[in-house]
Amino acid sequence: MDDIRREVNARGMNCSKSNFYTLLKNPVYCGKIVVPAYRDEPMQLVKGQHEPIISESLFYEVQDIINDKKRIQLVKISTADNLPLRGFLLCPHCGKQLTGSASKGRSAYYYYYHCSSTCGIRFKADAANDSFINELGKYVPKKGIAELYKTVVKDIFYQQTGSQAEGKKELLNQIQTENDRLAKARGLLLDDAIDSNDYKTIKAECESKLLSLEAKLTGFGKTAFDLDDCLDKALTNLSRLQITYNEGDAVVKRRIIGSMYPEKLCFDGGAYRTAIMNEAARLIYLINNELGMKKNRTKLDFSSLSDSVAGAGLEPTTFGL
Ligand SMILES: [Zn+2]
Repeated sequence: MDDIRREVNARGMNCSKSNFYTLLKNPVYCGKIVVPAYRDEPMQLVKGQHEPIISESLFYEVQDIINDKKRIQLVKISTADNLPLRGFLLCPHCGKQLTGSASKGRSAYYYYYHCSSTCGIRFKADAANDSFINELGKYVPKKGIAELYKTVVKDIFYQQTGSQAEGKKELLNQIQTENDRLAKARGLLLDDAIDSNDYKTIKAECESKLLSLEAKLTGFGKTAFDLDDCLDKALTNLSRLQITYNEGDAVVKRRIIGSMYPEKLCFDGGAYRTAIMNEAARLIYLINNELGMKKNRTKLDFSSLSDSVAGAGLEPTTFGL
């Protein structure tokens, strides 16, 4: 949270830590007004007349993150231009994280990535950095790949919207459960089985859950994102991947590395290996490979691509390169 606060402050906002926290928790930005508790009426959220600047589902997503319900992987920011990969690399020998540092030679500094344990693994940063740019080349779409790429991604997307429908059903079930609970409490109140204070507690609980569930449901209603638009953007960005990386400063470089490789990379001095890869980029890699092998064949077979990519889930963030 504080990293983001500093970033927006650098862009001209002037916001203290506690103010920023309050701001993120304020539902007014998603169109709601807080009606404070009054006498024995509990606090309520009502729809305001102003225009929301964020969606309710985004608001609740942020609340989940603040309440630590979502694990977010962050890599420590390093500012060294010569060590853009610092924090992203794992030692091929012992599996610990590689760190980076400079050592002063006779006339200049020399940069190294080296193991944080005593195993002694050390690579020249220049060589590792160059080799990484080559690695990125695997994810640059080859000529004429665009239509094929779009077809495969759309195919996967429609396979997955099936599971989205399941998620929607589950939300509707939960909403029904809360409504039933509320109705039941009302019945108990009328039968004098519970008193009005108990009823109010239950009602407030149910209503707060319902509010969050309904907001999530609204998010499901719309198509989450414009697929064609995302694909065009991903293709443009990927085709410029090496250039953008090369010309970018340390922040841009690290953003690219982070979005391409959600988990750390292992560098063995020659090549990079990773278990998990950005799906949008990995698909390009798979198609490039398939195209590379076509020379002695008359027909291309992409039927296996959907299966090998569909696992991890395509989301808008996949294309956030
Ligand atoms: Zn090591």
